Amino acid sequence: MYGENLWGEYNALYIDKYRYKEVTMAYKINSECISCGACEAECPVNCITEGDGIYVIDPEVCIECGACASVCPVGAPNPA
Ligand code: SF4
Ligand code: SF4
Repeated sequence: MYGENLWGEYNALYIDKYRYKEVTMAYKINSECISCGACEAECPVNCITEGDGIYVIDPEVCIECGACASVCPVGAPNPA
């Protein structure tokens, strides 16, 4: 009985994590980026860093708040 409960709980956690990843999208910075750096300071989870030519967003950390898009002068960040 205990084993059944434990196994069921494990499965539920796994499925929730899987679904979370399935439905969660991240913003992505396109090639329009002029590397001004404005978005980096706005990101509440600090997932924007300067990349090679353009800034990049870590999709594993982005919470899709849209703050980067609201300050970008060229509209480079968009929902992926
Ligand atoms: S959408 Fe929000 S969390 Fe994602 S990179 Fe932009 S500012 Fe950061
Ligand atoms: S605000 Fe826009 S142009 Fe500036 S670094 Fe971020 S994505 Fe690039």
